[in-house]
Amino acid sequence: MATIGWIGLGNMGKPMTKNLVAAGHTVRGYDLNSQAVAEAEAGGVTACGSIAEAVDGAEAVFTMLPKGEHARSVYLDAGGVFETASTEALLVDSSTIDVESAQALHEAAEKSGFAFVDAPVSGGISGAAAGTLTFMLGGSEADAERAKAYIDPMAGNIFYAGAGGLGQAAKIVNNMMLAISLEGAAEGAVLARKLGLDAQTFWDIAHVSSGDSWPLRTWYPVPGVVETAAANKGFDATFSAMLAHKDVGLALAGAESVGVELPAAQVAYSSLQKLVDDGYADKDCSLIIRNIDPEAPG
Ligand code: NAD
Repeated sequence: MATIGWIGLGNMGKPMTKNLVAAGHTVRGYDLNSQAVAEAEAGGVTACGSIAEAVDGAEAVFTMLPKGEHARSVYLDAGGVFETASTEALLVDSSTIDVESAQALHEAAEKSGFAFVDAPVSGGISGAAAGTLTFMLGGSEADAERAKAYIDPMAGNIFYAGAGGLGQAAKIVNNMMLAISLEGAAEGAVLARKLGLDAQTFWDIAHVSSGDSWPLRTWYPVPGVVETAAANKGFDATFSAMLAHKDVGLALAGAESVGVELPAAQVAYSSLQKLVDDGYADKDCSLIIRNIDPEAPG
């Protein structure tokens, strides 16, 4: 069993490290937030007070941080991973960050003599707790193969997406499509209701018809129709408006960098932006239904 360094013990990092510990690995964890470290310690993580301490003796180092700027800082700053870890350690960034930052980290890793893999995840906090996350790996095939052994206890699916940064590309394109489908499901739910359809009757029709989608099946934003929907619990977040907004923003930045216009993604982004501006950043992203119909139930 391995010694694994882990930086970022938030909503995702905490359950992910718990699964690594359960698989028999020694996990040395660090987070800026001491409360997060204490909670991870309760799950079996060895509490560390700095990046240098967390990476000490580690065969692999994972990061699970909010954004590109945090990942760049953790890897590149004085006292960061590149300065303090052994070049023998495999570095894996599972944060969802912009493709440009991921590529910059790949380049910096190569210059410093490290094997580095971008490995963002899909499946949310529940997937992290259950050890069923989908991982999308970017980097050399050999490094991705090496990463799989450590990732396995946290994963339901592991995909090799391609060269450095393509794991992040797969993640943000996926989440962009999710946000567009969610906008469609929410607009459909409102129109169906306004035209006089019973919510359950319409859902029964749509989910076996061509209007079906993952958010329709899983997040239908009308209470009492789909068990897993946040609409049943006052729109408490299963996937927060803030994170969905961030991911669609990353996709739009990626699109701009390659000169593509994405009108439907722009609509989904504006809708999520409105939730954030209205103070609902921590609520579920399916609350966008209230942008269309302020009186939508839930
Ligand atoms: P979070 O905010 O709960 O956790 C991030 C942690 O990183 C925090 O505890 C924070 O203190 C720590 N941190 C920030 N800067 C640091 C630094 N310089 N040094 C050490 N620690 C630092 O976020 P999360 O929900 O765990 O998400 C982490 C990543 O996973 C994000 O990129 C997110 O987009 C992605 N993600 C989240 C979900 C989800 O449902 N929450 C699903 C898939 C992917």
